[in-house]
Amino acid sequence: MAKEADIVKAIRRAIEAYGGYCQKNHGDGLSSGRPDIEACVDGHFVAIEVKMPRKKATDIQTHILDKIRSAGGWAVVLDDVIKLRAGLSTFPLTCRACFAPLKPPFCQCKTS
Ligand SMILES: [Mg+2]
Ligand SMILES: [Zn+2]
Repeated sequence: MAKEADIVKAIRRAIEAYGGYCQKNHGDGLSSGRPDIEACVDGHFVAIEVKMPRKKATDIQTHILDKIRSAGGWAVVLDDVIKLRAGLSTFPLTCRACFAPLKPPFCQCKTS
């Protein structure tokens, strides 16, 4: 079974293949809730909290993602590089909260 680090690596490769800048954050105990990946895609700030399937973001992670979205960025929890690729295919016409292409019925989160 894939580890979270494998998903992070696949997402990072996909962003860089797209032409984006991508920075992986390493937990240092001083920046709790900071998303696993911070990126710049087509001039837009994109933050990604990577989770294993069915795992949920913690309260502090959710709080920080909300703040990034409030500031106009994309802030998403992803468990799968396929979802990232789908969003990149229509970027920046993607949901800021789930990265789904903004064409019905892809976005299910109702926060975009
Ligand atoms: Mg994570
Ligand atoms: Zn959405």
